[in-house]
Amino acid sequence: MRVGLLTDEVSVELPVEVTNVHPDLVALATLTITRPWISNRLTLDRGVSATFAAESRRVFGVATGPIDMSLAPRAPGSKIGLAYSSGYDSAAASELLPPDTPHFHHARVPHPRVEERAPQWPSVMLRELVTESASHGKTPYVVNCNFEHMCHPYPTLPHWFGFAVGPLLLADRFDLGAIALGGTLETHYMDMGRTWKGSTGKPSGIDPLAAAVGLPVARPVLGLTEVGTQRIVAASPLAHLARSCTSTSDRTPCGVCGKCVRKSLLASAISGSVSPSVATLDAQNPFIKKILAESPIYMHAQFEYALSRIPATTPLIGALQRHLAPRGEGSTSWLDRFYAPGIAEGVPLPWREYVETQIRARLEPMTEHDVESARTYSPA
Ligand SMILES: [Zn+2]
Repeated sequence: MRVGLLTDEVSVELPVEVTNVHPDLVALATLTITRPWISNRLTLDRGVSATFAAESRRVFGVATGPIDMSLAPRAPGSKIGLAYSSGYDSAAASELLPPDTPHFHHARVPHPRVEERAPQWPSVMLRELVTESASHGKTPYVVNCNFEHMCHPYPTLPHWFGFAVGPLLLADRFDLGAIALGGTLETHYMDMGRTWKGSTGKPSGIDPLAAAVGLPVARPVLGLTEVGTQRIVAASPLAHLARSCTSTSDRTPCGVCGKCVRKSLLASAISGSVSPSVATLDAQNPFIKKILAESPIYMHAQFEYALSRIPATTPLIGALQRHLAPRGEGSTSWLDRFYAPGIAEGVPLPWREYVETQIRARLEPMTEHDVESARTYSPA
């Protein structure tokens, strides 16, 4: 899709002052903000390393310059930083990383020259939840950005890695050697919870470019399913702050969007009791109508897991069970456990042992039988 451009001026407001940011970090931050609108050349006011120039040409097809032949690529620092949204997956990642991990939150703020086209999106509420994590021992930093407003027809990140602009520009200041994101097993090894597709095991997409600026992408929950991340969060001090609904502006989730329905069903299955939000689901809810009419659905295995583990206390739960979970619990029991190869693939070496210890303290590893069940999973 072609992305329209509404303004040529944007701002990124960092929570702390920075000086002498490595030019490669600035270049990558600039690329993630401007990529849809530059064809093949990006000229910056300071020269980038030859390594970065070569990688940006290979990954993005963009000639980034000028090239400073005397500039060494940025070396990774000693700390891992977490891109923290207050969603379940990044909250689980937060619990698995060292206590001194800085948490960086990308917050969309109004643009002085572009009208607000999505006022219902709860950026203010998310910022509150993120800030509150400080009272549970986390160290959150909010990065105020308005570049999502550049895009037409709707406000969105110009490139998905745009939410990492803050950690990129703060990497030197915080001595960062990796940036952690929240991707789970369903997003990496599966076709979004429908069937197993496996992994090439090789860095792809923007990962090599992030590594080229000394900030390799880490995915601490790559071996975990959404069931695993939700279990970890439910048992953590962040439980009351985790929030995946983006449909309301106050602190109460809407209860009716796809994410709310899925998370409420999973929470009911994990806690063993049907929550009020599940008991009051309405057959006229557009999302419920949609999933009753389709199969397989997005995150099918997660719906099957949840629906096969809760009692049919309402006719609607019974109808959902017949449609999405006709096989009982056995076909999804692997979702409770973690896929060990995901730790090696998702976490850079300096943090791997720590993260693995944290995961093993909370979840069981998949058995060979579980791995076979995951690889051969097919919606009923
Ligand atoms: Zn919702």
